Amino acid sequence: MNSSAALAFEITESTQRQSEQDRQKILDNPGFGLHFTDHMVVIDWSLTKGWHGARVQPYGPLLVDPASSVLHYAQEIFEGLKAYRHQDGSIWLFRPQDNARRMQRSAARLALPELPEEDFLQSIRELIKVDHMWVPGSGETSLYIRPFMIANERFLGVRAAQHAAYYVIASPAGAYFPKGVAPVNIWVSQAHTRAGRGGTGAAKCGGNYSASLLPQQEASRNGCSQVLFLDAQEGKYLEELGGMNLFLVRKDGSLLTPSLTGSILEGVTRDSIITLAKDRGRAVEERKITLEETVNGLATGEIVEAFACGTAAVITPIAMIKGDGVSAGREDAPAGELTMSIRKELTDIQYGRLPDPHQWMVKVH
Ligand SMILES: *Cc1c(COP(=O)(O)O)cnc(C)c1O
Repeated sequence: MNSSAALAFEITESTQRQSEQDRQKILDNPGFGLHFTDHMVVIDWSLTKGWHGARVQPYGPLLVDPASSVLHYAQEIFEGLKAYRHQDGSIWLFRPQDNARRMQRSAARLALPELPEEDFLQSIRELIKVDHMWVPGSGETSLYIRPFMIANERFLGVRAAQHAAYYVIASPAGAYFPKGVAPVNIWVSQAHTRAGRGGTGAAKCGGNYSASLLPQQEASRNGCSQVLFLDAQEGKYLEELGGMNLFLVRKDGSLLTPSLTGSILEGVTRDSIITLAKDRGRAVEERKITLEETVNGLATGEIVEAFACGTAAVITPIAMIKGDGVSAGREDAPAGELTMSIRKELTDIQYGRLPDPHQWMVKVH
């Protein structure tokens, strides 16, 4: 049932779209993940029929059987990317093929079906076609796009489901830092890890996120906005944050980031930063980095900047790394120079203010 022909989408337009006035009110102050566009994409899958029933329909609650495997065994994956409005009104995605391929890798790990790359792209194109007016157009705003897939077979037995569904929803997003980019403190969790060797760390799945919520609460209690996880085996090496990758900048101007060991999510932003840094002639070292050398490096000045990266905030400067018996960096540390200049270059490419030498941008409207 793996036909190579692309899926055709049936479109059912909502008869209850938000009024232009209500939509404008939302777009003036969208926040993050609070409001959703008028439509969503659904594609069904079954072992016998393959992918079928591709459609765009009014946004609304799902009818999910209570015995669906996703509700019991967390057979679920997702993606996150943004649509950016350029000065001339056109709408663009940033490296969506990478999200499509990553979703296929996540699917393979979670024993879910792989959606062909062209169908992934087309599903987003179709949604933007009906909901393009939801892409905000000022400052660092965007339409956040959330493709996801669930196992929805009615069966409590433990095996890969034979029925699944893929969805795309979209949510207008305001600037992540409305008052200007501000460095954050991060909390090293030493009691909890996010992903172990051979686990699902490299897959974008809900289960990894539920495992990160308790340590995230611990981070908040300690005045930190994000949690930093160490490797599960030795508890010694930096891995990543709950939903962001990590970079350090050395005083010689080189960048350092944890290598992809299999328990780290391969961020599209991470990869883009490595590329842009190398374009500038900077050395980028991907290797195992100990917490100890990081704390020492921040104390001696060997490490001069630290930042986290991901689609939502692009680049977030890190002021301090805290934890049980850990305190590194300065509370009032300003955002690093390289941190901010790479952030600017990347967002300038995304918003069409700079040429796009790597053909990362894909026009969708
Ligand atoms: C999504 C995600 C990232 C960032 O990936 P981007 O493609 O840059 O958005 C990093 N870590 C985790 C755990 C993630 O889920």
